[in-house]
This record gives sequence, structure tokens and C-alpha cells, in this order.
Amino acid sequence: MQKVPYKIYLSESEMPKYWFNMKAVMKEKPEPFLNPATLKPCTPEELQQVFCKELVDQEFNDTDKYIEIPEGIREFYKMYRPSPLVRAYCLEKTLDTPAEIYYKFEGTNTSGSHKLNSAAAQVYYAKQQGITCLTTETGAGQWGTALAMACAYYGIDLTVYMVKVSAEQKPYRKAVIETYGGKVIPSPSDTTEAGRRILAETPDTGGSLGCAISEAIETAIKTKNCKYVLGSVLDHVLLHQTVIGLEAKTACDKYGIQPDMIIGCIGGGSNFGGLIAPFISEKIEGRSSIRIIGVEPASCPSLTRGKYAYDFGDTGKTTPLMKMYTLGSGFIPSPNHAGGLRYHGMSPIISKLYHDGYIEARAVEQTRVFEAAKVFARCEGILPAPESSHALCAAIDEAIMCRETGEKKTILFGLSGTGYFDLTAYMAYNSGTMTDYIPTDEDLEKGFAGLPNVPECVLMEV
Ligand SMILES: *Cc1c(COP(=O)(O)O)cnc(C)c1O
Repeated sequence: MQKVPYKIYLSESEMPKYWFNMKAVMKEKPEPFLNPATLKPCTPEELQQVFCKELVDQEFNDTDKYIEIPEGIREFYKMYRPSPLVRAYCLEKTLDTPAEIYYKFEGTNTSGSHKLNSAAAQVYYAKQQGITCLTTETGAGQWGTALAMACAYYGIDLTVYMVKVSAEQKPYRKAVIETYGGKVIPSPSDTTEAGRRILAETPDTGGSLGCAISEAIETAIKTKNCKYVLGSVLDHVLLHQTVIGLEAKTACDKYGIQPDMIIGCIGGGSNFGGLIAPFISEKIEGRSSIRIIGVEPASCPSLTRGKYAYDFGDTGKTTPLMKMYTLGSGFIPSPNHAGGLRYHGMSPIISKLYHDGYIEARAVEQTRVFEAAKVFARCEGILPAPESSHALCAAIDEAIMCRETGEKKTILFGLSGTGYFDLTAYMAYNSGTMTDYIPTDEDLEKGFAGLPNVPECVLMEV
């Protein structure tokens, strides 16, 4: 067997031509979206008021295992893909572990994360449909940046509602988005009814993703020829992200690498879903017993401490109801949380796979996450995104466990992006002022109390 190189790059011709639709292989499908007014399953027509048609078709598709990536998107992907699968030789040495550690690195494009994989696809389909402007929300800023890049390339206007604390913490993100031609509005803002309502109730709020989503949807509905796009959570976003897992699988197969476990960070679940897709499909089909671990912040623990229930996707309660692990759409993580992954809910696909026992979940505190980031930066050279460092932290824990037991496991983790715009958080960590926050059960109860009441008889029907 060939010695595995430090970096495995596929050639252009080895890049995936199809996305992988996990739902087609899931034995039980995620529950349908419900219209909150009628409590009936949403129709494609309803979703098309907000989203592009092709994306709605993908959202409802649970039969086609492979969905072709149009040429116009593959051309865009070629500008920054394939992304490398890296053997973390230096990290292995630093940890003195017998484990083999690999990471799939999605931070090689200017926006700095995997989000560009779905941004490209969503903007492409909007353009095809004759849409001229898009709205979205952004939390940490990566999605807004990725979308602005894609909008500049395909020629579409963009308005980004950016969570207010992030806009203040990350002024340079705003500069990048504006350079690509996007318009940034800190949320909550006075440009929408949802924003004005939240400002009236809580004038000092630093905002939340859920609130920014409400504002972006409202503006999309009220603006001519405009649609809303979302950077995570939804099935079609996970679908686009499967290029990560497909490339990783091809690279693993080429070098005879068989991961014993795959680890990813989970906010809304898209990079994790994309990375695990081809691997979990083998697990569902009974051909593999690979362990699959999602890692979330202890301050926003939707899988490990949330409820599996129908909930809104946004604070303003305007989206369809989705069955997912959730902390309640009113949940806002403590302001001292700097590590991203602050969404109250979780992808319905990931939620279902977790509920059915295919996936493990764990929560880690942010000071441990930054400790892992520091170790990694010093030996592998990359400054990781705090989000990605959740996965990294768990991978290091597993590698240290191998050192103690002497087991030679193969660990693959997703390094979803870089942390160049998270330097305020790194400064807090480096100066020793970063603190951990773990919500109490009472804190979580407040979020659960706001869950919509979906009667048992409706649940039986869907
Ligand atoms: C947005 C983001 C995440 C979290 O989103 P998912 O949909 O859970 O993948 C993770 N890592 C990075 C670098 C991000 O930008």
C-alpha cells in the first residue's frame, strides 16, 4: 500500500458529478413540514412562495439517491474544489497517539468555510428561475460571505441580515460582504415588522439567528422577484454539502483508508450531514459499523439536551413547523458564547438519524474547544474556525483515548473552516477572559415552554 501523502488532492475529473440524497437510503424518512396555521403537511407550492422552485423540489425529493450537479455549478466548484483530505501527521505526533487522524478541510476558499458549496447551488438555481435579488441571515458571517461571493459570480443582488452582536464583533466580515456587492443590515433592525417587534420587546438584544431569519423572510416576501435562501438546516442544503463526503470517500477509497469514526461539528447540521452522507448510507444498509459523532457547544445543546418536537425555524414564528431536536425557537445562547453553532434547532435529517440511533452526539465547553484549536494551530499550521474546533476537540479526545488503550483507530473529522474572522474570540481565549456557560435545566425549560402545541391526532396522521 502506498504511503498516504500529507495532503490528498483529487483531480478535477474525480470530483463528484452528483450529490448524494441521504433521504433516499433512510429507512424511515424525516417527518414532513407542517403549515403552522392548518397543521397540515406543507405543499411544494407553499414553500415556493419563499424558496426557489428547484430547491423546493430537492427538499421534497426522498427517492432519488443521486441528483445531478448542473454544469454551471460544477464550473463554480472547480474554482476552489476539490478540497484536500489531510493526514494530520503532525497532530498525531504531538498527541503521541497510535490513532491515524484525517481531516477534510473546507476552509480553502475566501469565504473560509464549506458554506460556499450550497451558496453556489442556491444562487445558480435562483438565476435560472429569473430571480433578481435574494435575502438571507448570517450569524457568524460565513454564510453571508459565501452567498455574497456566489451572488457576485452569478449576478444577483443580495441583502444580508446579520445578527447584531456578530456585526459588531466582526466588522471585517461586513467589509468582505460589501466588497462582493452584498448589503448588510444588523438584526434586529427597523426595516421589518419582525425586527421592530423584537426591538420593542427587548431593545438591548444582541439579536439571534432566529430573529434575523424572520427579517430576511419578511423582506423576501415583500420584495418583487426576490427569494429567501438559508445556509443550513434544510434538506437541500445538506444535499449540496454532500460534495464534502463524496470527495472524502473517493480519497479514502483511493488510498485504502477505512475510518472507524467520523466526527463533525453541528450547528444546523449541514457540514456534518454532507461529510457523513456516503458513509452513513453504508451504515444504514448494514455494510459498515462506523461510529458517527456530532459535536455541539455545551451552551447551545440542541441534540444532547433538546426535545425532538415540531418547532418553528425562527424566533418570529413565521417558518413552517419542522420536526427536529430543538431548544425552542425563543432560545438565545448566552452572549459570552463566542464559538458559533448558536442555532436553537437541528437539521430534520440529522435529528431523525440521531433519534434512530445511527449518530452519537456530544457537547463540549468553549474553553476546551479553543484549547484544542490552539494545539491544532501550533502543529498543523491552520487557524481553525471555532465551529470546526468542536469537531477537532472531540477528535483529539478520541486520539488521546487511543493513546491510553493502545488502539490504532482511524479518525476522520471535518475541518469546516478557518478562524481568521474570529480573532475577538481568540483574543478572549488568549487573555484568559473567556468563560464557559452551560444553561441550567430551568434555562432550557423557558425555551421548551414556547414550543408550539401540535395535537396528538395530527402527529398520528403525518
Ligand atoms: C456555519 C458553520 C458551521 C455550522 O453550520 P452547519 O450547518 O452545522 O455546518 C460550522 N463550521 C463553520 C466553519 C461554519 O461556517
